[in-house]
Amino acid sequence: MALAFDEFGRPFIIIREQGQKTRLRGLEAHKANISAGKAVARILRTSLGPKGMDKMLQGPDGDVTITNDGATILEQMDVDNQIAKLMVELSRSQDYEIGDGTTGVVVLAGSLLEQAERQLERGLHPIRIAEGYEMASRIAVEHLERIAQKFEFGESNIEPLVQTCMTTLSSKIVNRCKRDLAEIAVRAVLAVAHLERKDVNLDLIKVEGKVGGKLEDTELIYGILVDKDMSHPQMPKRIEDAKIAILTCPFEPPKPKTKHKVDIDTVEKFQTLRQQEQKYFDEMVQKCKDIGATLVICQWGFDDEANHLLMHRNLPAVRWVGGVELELIAIATDSSSFLIGLTNGAFVGGRIVPRFQELTPEKLGKAGLVREKSFGTTKDRMLYIEHCANSKAVTIFIRGGNKMVIEETKRSIHDALCVARNLIRNNSIVYGGGSAEISCSIAVEAAADRYPGVEQYAIRAFADALDAIPMALAENSGLQPIETLSAVKSQQIKENNHYCGIDCNDVGTNDMREQNVFETLIGKQQQILLATQVVKMILKIDDVISPSEY
Ligand code: ADP
Repeated sequence: MALAFDEFGRPFIIIREQGQKTRLRGLEAHKANISAGKAVARILRTSLGPKGMDKMLQGPDGDVTITNDGATILEQMDVDNQIAKLMVELSRSQDYEIGDGTTGVVVLAGSLLEQAERQLERGLHPIRIAEGYEMASRIAVEHLERIAQKFEFGESNIEPLVQTCMTTLSSKIVNRCKRDLAEIAVRAVLAVAHLERKDVNLDLIKVEGKVGGKLEDTELIYGILVDKDMSHPQMPKRIEDAKIAILTCPFEPPKPKTKHKVDIDTVEKFQTLRQQEQKYFDEMVQKCKDIGATLVICQWGFDDEANHLLMHRNLPAVRWVGGVELELIAIATDSSSFLIGLTNGAFVGGRIVPRFQELTPEKLGKAGLVREKSFGTTKDRMLYIEHCANSKAVTIFIRGGNKMVIEETKRSIHDALCVARNLIRNNSIVYGGGSAEISCSIAVEAAADRYPGVEQYAIRAFADALDAIPMALAENSGLQPIETLSAVKSQQIKENNHYCGIDCNDVGTNDMREQNVFETLIGKQQQILLATQVVKMILKIDDVISPSEY
C-alpha cells in the first residue's frame, strides 16, 4: 500500500494488484506452515510436567504474568502468524472442553508436525499422511479405552479425586500446597455437583483472591464472599439468621430532578424539604424493618446522611455490590430455589428487588450467618455470607504474597476444578507421566504392520510423535531423554504393564500407580483427537496467499 495526494492535496491510498501478493505453494507452503506450528510447540515444550519451566510475559501496559499454563502463555503471546494462531486455538479448545492438558496438546501437535515433515521429505503425499494420522489416532483412542481404569469414589471417599487434582497441581507454581488446594477444589466441586445426574455447574463456584497472607490460608467458604464492607463502621459485624433484602433500586429519598423547579427562599421551606426527605427515607427503612429484613444489600449507593440514619435505626446495609455478585447472593440465599428465568441472558434469582414497592417478606434471602472480616493492618474488609438457604454456591478464597501468585493460583485451581468435574462426569482414568502415551505408541506401532498401504509410514510416524510427551517430561526433569524413554518402553513391553512412566520427581519408582499420577481418560483422548485434527488441517493447506509486507 502507498499513500498519495491528488491535485487538491487530498490523501488517497494506492493498493497494489493481486499479483504483488506473496504466495507459497506445494511443499514450500507445507514446510512454512509446519515450521510455524513447530515454533509454537517448542516454546511450550519446556513448560510440560512437574519440573516444567515457567514463562514470564509482559503485557503492553507493563503488567507481568508468570505462568506455566499452556493456554495462558499462548493467549498472551499475541502471535500473528495464522498457523501459529491455529495452535493457540487448539490450546484454547482443550481448555474449554477439558480445562487441563493445554500444554500437552500443543506439544503433541508440534511433534506430529515434525514427524509429518520427515514423511513429506520421503515423498509421502500430505493426504496420505493425514489419513494415516486419522487411523492412528483412532487406534490410540481405542487403546486408551482399554487401558483405562474405573475410579471409585463417593462423597465419603474423596481421596481418589484429591489424588487426581494433586497430579494436575503438581506441575504448577502452587505445587507447595497442592494437597490443601486439591482438597479445596474437590470439596467445592462436590458441593455444587449433582452426583446422580453426573452434572457439575462450575458457575456456582466463585474464585476470589486477595493479596496478603499465605497460600496456605486459602479457604473454601460455603457461601458467598463479597469484597465489600458494612456501610457504617458502627454497624454490627456479625448477623445471625440474616434476612436479606437485595435491592437493585436506589435506597435513598428521590433527588429533586433539574427539570422541576423548587423555590426555597426561606429557612422554613428548606427545613420542611429536609424533613420530608428524611421522612421519606425513614419510611423506606421502616418498611424494610416491617417485613423483617435484618440486612440490606444494595446495588447503588446512598449518602452519608442516609447511612447515619440506617445505623441509628439499626438496619445494617452494604452498598455498591456488583450485579454478578447480587445474582450469586440471590441464588445462594434463595430457600425456594425458584428462579424466574432469564433476563439479558443471565439468571436472575427470584428475590432481587428492582422496585422498592415490590419488597415483600417472601423476597428476602436467608443466610445463617453474615459476618465482616478484616485483613492485615489495612482497612481491607470482606463480607462472608454463609450457611445460605440454598447451599449450592461456594467461594474459594485465595490468599497469596502478591498479585501474580494469586492470578496463577486462580488458573491452577481452575484446572483442578475441571479435572474433578471431568471425573464426576466420567470416572475413567489413565496413568500420567507419559505412561499412557508410551503404551499408545507401542499399540499404534504394532498396528502399523497390519496396514498394507503407504499409510503405515504415517501410522508409525504417529507412534513416534506420541513419544514426544515422555521425552519432554524426561528432558524437563534433567534426565537423558532417549535413554530414559527406551528404558521405560522396553520395561512396558517386557512386563506388559501400562503404568511405567517417567519418574520426574526422582521418587525411585517409575510405576505411576505407586506415584499416584493420574489423568482423566476423556482429557487424554481429547488431547489426541484435537491435536490430530489440527495437524490434518495444516497438512491439507498447499497454497498460502498473503498480502506482501512493506
Ligand atoms: P498441561 O497443561 O498439559 O496439563 P502440565 O505442565 O500440567 O501440562 O503437565 C502435565 C504432564 O505432566 C502430564 O503428562 C502428567 O502426566 C505429567 N505429570 C504431572 N505430575 C507428574 C509427576 N509427579 N510425575 C510424572 N509426571 C507427572
